[in-house]
Amino acid sequence: MFSPKSVSAALATHFGNALVSPAPSPLTDEERRMFSRLKILLTEKEQGLIESEEEDEEALVQESGDSDSDYDAEEDEKPEQRSRKPWTKELCDKMLEFYRSKDLEDGRRGASQSFKRMQNRFRAHMKTEYDLTLLRKYEKTGVIPSVRYSAMRQLASDVRAKLGEKMKKGVPIHDTDIRKIALDLNKLNAASGNFKASATWVSKWKVHHRIVSRKVTKFVTRKATKDREKVLKQIDELRIKFLAVVRKNPGIVIINADQTGQVKEMHSTRTLAEEGSKDVVVEIESKSATTHSVTVLPTIYLDGRQHPIVYVHLGEPTGSLPAKKAVYGNKNLVIGASKSHIMNREAAARYFKEVLFVQPMPKHMLLLLDSWSLFLNHSFIQGLVPKGHKVTILNIPKGGTSLAQPLDLCYNQQWKCVMRRLNDAILVHDIDFVLHTRDNLLRCISQVYWAFGAPMFKEYRKYGWYRGGFLTTHPAPFVTPPKYMFGEGSEADCPCSEPGLIRCPYCKKAHCFSCFVINSHRCA
Ligand SMILES: [Zn+2]
Ligand SMILES: [Zn+2]
Repeated sequence: MFSPKSVSAALATHFGNALVSPAPSPLTDEERRMFSRLKILLTEKEQGLIESEEEDEEALVQESGDSDSDYDAEEDEKPEQRSRKPWTKELCDKMLEFYRSKDLEDGRRGASQSFKRMQNRFRAHMKTEYDLTLLRKYEKTGVIPSVRYSAMRQLASDVRAKLGEKMKKGVPIHDTDIRKIALDLNKLNAASGNFKASATWVSKWKVHHRIVSRKVTKFVTRKATKDREKVLKQIDELRIKFLAVVRKNPGIVIINADQTGQVKEMHSTRTLAEEGSKDVVVEIESKSATTHSVTVLPTIYLDGRQHPIVYVHLGEPTGSLPAKKAVYGNKNLVIGASKSHIMNREAAARYFKEVLFVQPMPKHMLLLLDSWSLFLNHSFIQGLVPKGHKVTILNIPKGGTSLAQPLDLCYNQQWKCVMRRLNDAILVHDIDFVLHTRDNLLRCISQVYWAFGAPMFKEYRKYGWYRGGFLTTHPAPFVTPPKYMFGEGSEADCPCSEPGLIRCPYCKKAHCFSCFVINSHRCA
């Protein structure tokens, strides 16, 4: 038998926390393997070779079998608007009598009428099959179903049915999706005028339907660089050089740019599982598109600004953008292409000439760049600097980006998260939008970059500089783009009256996918 007690005792002894009594008992093979795994995990953590990440995961624990269990869905809603007339006891009895009045061929009574016949007879009261379920329940319990209550219960089970399909396919579900679907269905069925799908409602709904959010802790082993000590030393030297340049050049404008690969079609990596099912089928729009095929090159400033333009490099089979067909364009995009999405010399030159070194350009710039070969080629970059301007370049040592690259420390991850959430939303809400086409991808990148540049994210954009050790004061408290854009308030109605999905960080209003992404919402 596996004994956690023995394993933890062995661990305590190993880490010099010797237990007095009882002495650790000899481990079985299985215990020894676990001991060794935990020992390595803890040792690597101690040496800074491991990082733990927390992730939310929604999982369907089990099917809710008892749909009749007490579920007070309306507790936090006030009944005002009613979709049909309340049932009286007389009416219930009348309906029940008719329901059970079907004559059998042998003359006996007792079989039940079909829903269709019930509907024809009691048009004002029998609206959905669920009303019939309620009538049968009345027959059993004698309790007259309250109108709004039943409508709310119906809504709750409709939401479950709709989400169940999605979860079975492995589409990631977030709280805001549950709210949006509930609001959509409520609107569709006019169940309740003042139903808000509040956070309380969502959490009760999840409890009732056995859907849990789990915080999953993943341990990610960093590439254990042999030269870790060397890299740390190089980063320290970089910070010293950086400070020296800044002190010597008051008014210098400090910039960080970083390439980030963008999977054409990104999904949340969480897995959803129904108890007892081993295989989780994930619905993917296009298999071949699940590859890195776009590079996005955002630029941020130490003072919290974001550069107005983002460079996007597409991998195109022909090596260039179509000459005859119009490609989606936006003033915040400079688009390049080659056979692969990996930026080449020409692409790098375009980035400097068309994005960074455009007027109005600061007199003196300090570029903090990683050790990509073209960023290490200072004479190449200096050759592109316009006359009358000065550019100083500092490179982050190889293997040091996860410790010192501001965009890596705070930006790229949230960027990917927002792109994933958009893609998840397309799948969950059956939005007619194919993300992996060139134009749609560019449309999304343009929109997300614009959103990330909102003034409200200024402190957020400074945070990577702080983490990297280039900014000594901690930025003021901030909310991250994914939290803001998909968090509370994102499900309010869009100005077009459709239910919202994304909250605009400029006008702070919720917008539907169509208004925000497809029609490139720009309120500022
Ligand atoms: Zn707006
Ligand atoms: Zn809209």
